[in-house]
Amino acid sequence: MTLQLDSDGHLRHLLTLDGLPREILVRLLDRAGQIRDTALGRTCKRNSLVGTTICTLFFEPSTRTRSSFQIAAQRLGADIINFEASTSSARKGETALDTLRNLEAMGVRGFVVRHAEDGAAEMLATHAGEGTTVINAGDGRSAHPTQGLLDALTIRQAKGPDFSKLKVLIVGDVKHSRVARSDLHALHTLGTGEIRVCGPQSLLPDDGVLKGCVVGDDFDAMLEDADVVMMLRLQRERMEEGLVSSLDDYHRDYGLTVQRLRRAAADAVVLHPGPINRGIEITDEVADGPQSLVLRQVSNGVAIRMAVLETLLA
Ligand code: ASP
Repeated sequence: MTLQLDSDGHLRHLLTLDGLPREILVRLLDRAGQIRDTALGRTCKRNSLVGTTICTLFFEPSTRTRSSFQIAAQRLGADIINFEASTSSARKGETALDTLRNLEAMGVRGFVVRHAEDGAAEMLATHAGEGTTVINAGDGRSAHPTQGLLDALTIRQAKGPDFSKLKVLIVGDVKHSRVARSDLHALHTLGTGEIRVCGPQSLLPDDGVLKGCVVGDDFDAMLEDADVVMMLRLQRERMEEGLVSSLDDYHRDYGLTVQRLRRAAADAVVLHPGPINRGIEITDEVADGPQSLVLRQVSNGVAIRMAVLETLLA
């Protein structure tokens, strides 16, 4: 996507990891890695975005993404406002684009956008004013680039920078998952040795996004020797009826239990983007167990979002 790069090849918006040049992706990971150690302490306040106003423009619910963008912006010294669709004129029918234009007129320069429609962030970036930056915080089932980056950072911290020997398994409701798409783009760009994708046929996409992956529906077989297991939430809000026969069946076939995890490499790590359906795609013992990096992902989210905001807006 060229829209997100300016004519000199610098990042202007962050809309997708699809086609994002490897050096830009790695630079974001490096920058976040440097920030990471100090990002969670109180003393890490930086002033790189003093005088810049950022808005989290969310038309869908969020816990982690919105909070971590807010914390990241504050740690960079920016002013941050939160637009909440349910308590705004969006309820009176105002469009996302009119909302953005009005906030631009108040001097907002950075928009962190979440929307249920595919392509919403790209549409806003296309129509945004000259100095405005749009960051996609999740659009429909298309992309969630900062999640893809924080997952890549989490894997890199656990397994080192060489992804070429890694077997990474993505499991579950891939069809409805923007996280899976952004993870796939990041894993391909970083040269991952083997990318496996597993889920019931009804929850696997057929739009070409799984090209280059080993795809299967037998979770136990796909787990063999995996180094990284990335679990996904069953996204019932995006699902037509009947794609999953029952939650019990789903858990039996695709739920990650301690016993199942033994099939993976002994030092395998487990990721999940949250929110977790405990007892459905993952058990408490695994989610809270020694191989889980779930909260590490959340911490890394702040560092990644600081790196992204600084790169785009400082
Ligand atoms: N929080 C992530 C997202 O917004 C993952 C999920 O909702 O399952 O896409």
